[in-house]
Amino acid sequence: MTQDTIKHHLTDALLMAYSAGSLPEAFSLAVAAHVSMCDECRARLGAFDTVGGSLMDSCEAEEMSADSLASTLKLIELSDTRPLAPADAAPIEEGVLPAPVRAYVGGDLEAVRWRSVGMGVKQAILPTSGGATARLLYIPAGAAVPDHGHRGTELTLVLKGAFEDKVDHFGPGDIEVANEDLDHTPIADIGEDCICLAATDAPLKFNSWLPRIAQPFLRI
Ligand code: ZN
Ligand code: ZN
Repeated sequence: MTQDTIKHHLTDALLMAYSAGSLPEAFSLAVAAHVSMCDECRARLGAFDTVGGSLMDSCEAEEMSADSLASTLKLIELSDTRPLAPADAAPIEEGVLPAPVRAYVGGDLEAVRWRSVGMGVKQAILPTSGGATARLLYIPAGAAVPDHGHRGTELTLVLKGAFEDKVDHFGPGDIEVANEDLDHTPIADIGEDCICLAATDAPLKFNSWLPRIAQPFLRI
């Protein structure tokens, strides 16, 4: 995929929080995965990393005991739990899953352990910690994720195929940032099954009873 095909990018707030290492792991993964596919956001992240680094340098220049410097560095080390950014990662081979996602799956698509969530839609929850959940979603061509709203933030990154909701059409590399203000029914394009990485920090609000009943079992 080329830069020209990506229309939907990360917000500055998400890139800054990622750079500072303050996002929940599931959101960090979604950011790292988009950045690995998107030259534009990789460049913007580089700028935030530089600003963050120089702030750190100017802090260190102030009078600090050897002890406090060591403990500050230790804290930074402990708090930096973000997944490998593409710059640190091994060279990327071709595959459907970007390298940061493959690290969680233990391989490419063939290694994903899908579970049905009904109506042909499948998911695989990834092992992230903290207050947010990351999952791979498999939406068959032409199928829909049931109409829902959001109690928190939902990041949806298209890895393969495309979907459309009332906001726009999202293709490979595009990331949709949804929040409390948005109710939507993402529908996969007719021509191709759609695979997405979705990260949420609160349960979705389904607008029909069937998904609501299944929700606790699906952790969605
Ligand atoms: Zn981008
Ligand atoms: Zn949503």
